[in-house]
Amino acid sequence: MSAPGGIRSTCPYCGVGCGVLLSEDKNGALSVRGDPDHPANFGRLCSKGSALGETLGLEHRLLAPKIDGQDSDWDTALDLVADRFSQSIRDHGPDSVAFYVSGQLLTEDYYVANKLMKGFIGSANIDTNSRLCMASSVAGHKRAFGSDTVPGTYEDLDEADLVVLVGSNLAWCHPVLYQRLLAARKSRGTKIVVVDPRRTASCDGADLHLALQPGSDVALFNHLLREIGARGAVDPDFLQHTNGFEAALEAAQLETLSPTGLSEEEVRAFCDMWIGTEKTVTIYSQGVNQSTSGSDKVNAILNCHLATGRIGRPGMGPLSVTGQPNAMGGREVGGLANMLACHLDLENPDHRQAVRDFWQAPQMPEVLGLKAVDMFRAVADGRIKALWVIHTNPAVSMPDSAAVRAAIEACPFTVVSDITEHSDTARLARVLLPASAWGEKDGTVTNSDRTISRQRAALPAPGAARPDWQILCEVGKRMGWHAAFDYESPVEIFREYAALSGLAGQFGRDFDISGLSGLEASAYDTLAPTRWPVIADRSGGRFFADGNFYHGDKKARLLPLRYRPPAARTGPKYPFRLNTGRLRDQWHTMTRTGLSPRLGAHMPEPFLDLHPNDAATLGITPADLVEVRSPNGSAILRARISDAVQPGQVFAPIHWTGETAPSGRIDDLVAAETDPVSGQPESKASVVAVQKM
Ligand code: SF4
Repeated sequence: MSAPGGIRSTCPYCGVGCGVLLSEDKNGALSVRGDPDHPANFGRLCSKGSALGETLGLEHRLLAPKIDGQDSDWDTALDLVADRFSQSIRDHGPDSVAFYVSGQLLTEDYYVANKLMKGFIGSANIDTNSRLCMASSVAGHKRAFGSDTVPGTYEDLDEADLVVLVGSNLAWCHPVLYQRLLAARKSRGTKIVVVDPRRTASCDGADLHLALQPGSDVALFNHLLREIGARGAVDPDFLQHTNGFEAALEAAQLETLSPTGLSEEEVRAFCDMWIGTEKTVTIYSQGVNQSTSGSDKVNAILNCHLATGRIGRPGMGPLSVTGQPNAMGGREVGGLANMLACHLDLENPDHRQAVRDFWQAPQMPEVLGLKAVDMFRAVADGRIKALWVIHTNPAVSMPDSAAVRAAIEACPFTVVSDITEHSDTARLARVLLPASAWGEKDGTVTNSDRTISRQRAALPAPGAARPDWQILCEVGKRMGWHAAFDYESPVEIFREYAALSGLAGQFGRDFDISGLSGLEASAYDTLAPTRWPVIADRSGGRFFADGNFYHGDKKARLLPLRYRPPAARTGPKYPFRLNTGRLRDQWHTMTRTGLSPRLGAHMPEPFLDLHPNDAATLGITPADLVEVRSPNGSAILRARISDAVQPGQVFAPIHWTGETAPSGRIDDLVAAETDPVSGQPESKASVVAVQKM
């Protein structure tokens, strides 16, 4: 939709989902400004969003299909992909193939990918890089609420009196949301607490920083639950809408504070603030999710909000902030290996049958698919014989990534759809398919507070690039399912998806946008940001204030939880705990942000932060090169000496790849240990040794 200031779209980076206005500048280049009318950002953009116009060059674009490194044409490439997938399914069954997809996909692309794999190929082997980002939040929500529902909204930040950031460097990773929080602090004095082993930029504006030991969040929130019980802060009326409080409290009472490394005074100050402030929002992100106890950490936070009834009301509740622009859309379409579309359950036979009937699908898997880490293990041991990677770079972003590279290289048939051929994963593929990039494609995304926004094209697709939904549909048709994938445009897919969500609504599920199922193309074109649910009698807003949840008895669950340490233990050989994370001005593996010299100037090379005491012991001075070794691999990084990290802990950013700094691939160091419930890897608590080069 072209507005007076340009075409309205959304930023392709983080889950804040900021609205942008795209227009042509006086030199004919695309100019990007914040959309003053978008409810996620009201015109604000961070450094990454502001630099989008600098990242649209074609110098690294994949412009034609390639087979074995040679330029090809669409018909030849698509025929080959369809033939090899069909052959593998014929010879070895549907579970011999897999899709590994991305939160960069638009909802329409995601929907079609999920439909093709689950309904037509008949396997649940589709998983997404969102598994590395927020799978623990999904698992925690489902255990507590009976559904993957985000109860809160961004407006809650405007109304809260206390905001607790747990495992979230909001100032760098969700900057516009952080600016919104600072604005609330200025206008109403909102207090901010940061719970993070590291002192980050988010601590600059905080009233309290709890530098707990990595992975000890359950112990901290169990202590808070115990204090809630002891100080009579439980909401007895709301507790009637829950089960499990007594057992959760009993487990919490067995916990000690020692795993946190925090003093009694620090924790008392935190409990005083939390318990004494009804309007409390707890924001959590990768520091909570990327852990072998990630799901338990999420539930430990939810336990406290449920016990006090601080959920679903203005200015209070838990809020999981997602990493990617469409991580939420991926959850909603069922892009995870253990979910069906529209928050229906793959393990529920009625749900399976309903979706199968709706799609008129030949089959539907009855068992869960392989989650990301297990998927690449299955590639490595030969169970997966045909793999399609879409808009993601697992060869550097998966834990134990050297092993993942070896697995992909040995896979009999790998396809990569992407905008570039210069990625560690693309280099290993047999077939490369050129996809349309942000700014060239049309569809929808859902941000962290359930707001569905349009992404709109402002540029023509270069060369032979095509939208992902079209590529997936062409393969589906060539595999024999012509009618099911015969879409002409994204709006047709969106209408079908919205209609399917109405079916989910009939099963009493939370995700229902059936009010959008009749959208005309013109209405889809002009669709304004819209928070789900979108149904006849209730739209937008918050969930759970009425005490109705999505378990069979309509009650929420508090869980009995105990602290578990990270999987890897430090010792004489690997004495340091490695934390990983994002930088302010880079995005994932820098495919796009790496094209902006302005963004690159912030932190130009991979580095390792270590505490001054450790640096002195190891004889390391600032800017020395250091070798970092883990049981999985090694990296060479530039040392930065900083007391922002605690003694015995080190921090390194995740962004560099084999293309940009082959010795700085951090996920080569990370162990492939996962949360037993969510399957999310423990990306922030590997063990390493450090020595001066
Ligand atoms: Fe883009 Fe996130 Fe920055 Fe907004 S906060 S401009 S969505 S990167």
